Amino acid sequence: MKELILAADIGGTMMRVAIADSQGRIFEKTSAPVPRGPDARDVLMKVVELCDAISAKYGGRGSISKVSIAAIGPLDMVKGAIVRPANMPYDVVPIMDVLSDYFDATFILLNDCNAAAIAEKRIGVGKDVDDIVYITISSGIGGGAIVDGRLLLGKDGNAAEIGHMVVDMGTDMVCGCGKKGHWEAYCGGNSMPKFAKFLAEEKYSHVDSTLVRKLRKDVQTISAKDLFEYARAGDSFALTFVNTIAEINGIGVANVVDAFDPSVISIGGSVALNNVDLVVERLKPFVEKYALNRVPQIVSTPLGHDAPLLGAVLAAIEPPPKSIFRAL
Ligand SMILES: [Zn+2]
Repeated sequence: MKELILAADIGGTMMRVAIADSQGRIFEKTSAPVPRGPDARDVLMKVVELCDAISAKYGGRGSISKVSIAAIGPLDMVKGAIVRPANMPYDVVPIMDVLSDYFDATFILLNDCNAAAIAEKRIGVGKDVDDIVYITISSGIGGGAIVDGRLLLGKDGNAAEIGHMVVDMGTDMVCGCGKKGHWEAYCGGNSMPKFAKFLAEEKYSHVDSTLVRKLRKDVQTISAKDLFEYARAGDSFALTFVNTIAEINGIGVANVVDAFDPSVISIGGSVALNNVDLVVERLKPFVEKYALNRVPQIVSTPLGHDAPLLGAVLAAIEPPPKSIFRAL
């Protein structure tokens, strides 16, 4: 019977795909790295491939009536595409153009953090409140805001692109989007090694440690995960770096508190969820230091890495406005 939902979370590094029924029960799910090019269509072909693998025993692609995509932004909601993403090597990822060739279905497209905010509101930490902000600290940084019970979408569906709020003017730190001083240029997983190298060379040039030597020699070999591992092993510069990141994350979250006045802030994304102690817990005192508004409850998401994927399933059942496309 043609009534299944295909949900996909297309992140900057990983994609997650699930098959669910019209009640939102997930039958199968899987994940894979996001293809890095050269053709942006490869990203969508990977979604089709994963769908075929997990839907075969439920009737395959022909049994899917709704395709719900939660994707990194920025989105063009007229074209149904990701445009100039900061964390993918493509100008445009033409989601609707490609997927509509493979599915005879209704399409729902929304920003991954908006999807996660929907999941928090309906089944997560925001069930009992009307004002929720979901923040991802992952390859990049993004947000989804529910204010007065309503998901904020904005003119292009890109409200709460909070990772690109400026936290430092007059800086040399360039964001993946090409502009300077953005929160993500410091604390997004893809940018952290570059920021660590900048600090090691410019501000802490007198400091010596194993990590400092590696950063100066070849920053390409260091990942965000490595930086946290060095901190856990007691590397003096890595500990300083983690505290610096905590303050900048605290400033970003304080800006969110003052802009949206939420009752709860839920933090997800791989950088945060793999380092709750060093990222989520350590930013909290800085939110108190910088926010004017009353600081709300700040938690790591109880929905884990699947928050955007679960939101995509839930959005297929009850879509927010401006998110629906019909098959061409
Ligand atoms: Zn940016």
